[in-house]
Amino acid sequence: MSVAHHHVLIIGSGPAGLTAAIYTARANLKPFVIEGEPSSTTDQPGGQLMLTTEVENFPGFPEGIMGPELMGRFREQAQRFGAEFLTEKVARVDFSQRPFRVWTHDKEFTADSVIVSTGAQSLMLNLPNETALVGHGVSTCATCDGFFFRGKEIAVVGGGDSAVEEATFLTKFASKVTIVHRRGELRASKIMRDRAMANEKIEFKWNSQVVELKGASSLEGIVLEDTVTGERSDMDVAGLFIAIGHKPNTGLFTGILDMEDSGYLVTQPGSSYTNIPGVFACGDVQDHTYRQAITAAGSGCMAAIDCERWLEANHA
Ligand code: NDP
Repeated sequence: MSVAHHHVLIIGSGPAGLTAAIYTARANLKPFVIEGEPSSTTDQPGGQLMLTTEVENFPGFPEGIMGPELMGRFREQAQRFGAEFLTEKVARVDFSQRPFRVWTHDKEFTADSVIVSTGAQSLMLNLPNETALVGHGVSTCATCDGFFFRGKEIAVVGGGDSAVEEATFLTKFASKVTIVHRRGELRASKIMRDRAMANEKIEFKWNSQVVELKGASSLEGIVLEDTVTGERSDMDVAGLFIAIGHKPNTGLFTGILDMEDSGYLVTQPGSSYTNIPGVFACGDVQDHTYRQAITAAGSGCMAAIDCERWLEANHA
């Protein structure tokens, strides 16, 4: 097997990875991006924005832009400056020696530096038509999609801080928000809980699981099941926000890169440096706080600049 060597190898191609590609390409570092596989819902090229419809909060697009189109433009911009792409998934990495080694299912690469931008995924309910309805009534991001539900009744699934925070935020738009939780009490912190309880636009549906999403091309309602009695009931909502947690895509780096207990990569504060010099991380894989396309893109830029400076200092 011939082994191609790259100065900069980028793993993942959401807003973070593609921004890192644009910057490192413009710095003449000829980045090589292993972008993921289209068949996968977790490692698809373009990342989570490929699962959304209209993006209205990305600066520079006053009319809004579709998520996949936005990512297509990022990619085009990186290619224009010489970034190369491989549409495969990384299967294994070895950062214990230099150059670093990275494998896909049938290829091996070596690299002087690696930028990790493998992103995160929202945990989903795993209902049959759920993926098809994302962007068509089902959403995993209130900040992104709340605006589309002005004056409508919606539901939020989950009982943690995310669900309560999203529900509270969504009351700015929706006429009524029902938090559907599988138990009889919230996991969310007291302050968030109290705020939601005091909000007259928020109602609670306790001991309830969403067991069915109605509608083929857009959400037409949901079916709930009482977790105590098993009784089923219909709920008429225009939107369903799933807020049951996130999972960073860091399985490849277990035991190799420092992670928090939750699996998010640890970067040195104010930078994209991981615990291994020459390996940088950016985007949602190291950010459980903001999780926005624009913050991911910003951190991709940071990783590119950190990487460029590190290469200059170490590979002159
Ligand atoms: P959590 O893991 O805290 O909560 C997930 C919630 O979803 C739980 O209530 C859980 O139910 C429920 N859930 C999990 N799986 C399912 C399922 N399959 N079907 C139905 N319900 C399900 O995740 P969060 O994203 O809420 O929070 C993650 C971390 O981020 C926490 O530490 C949180 O404090 C923090 N955070 C802080 C914020 C803030 O301070 N502003 C805002 C958002 C998050 P159950 O309770 O029964 O397990």
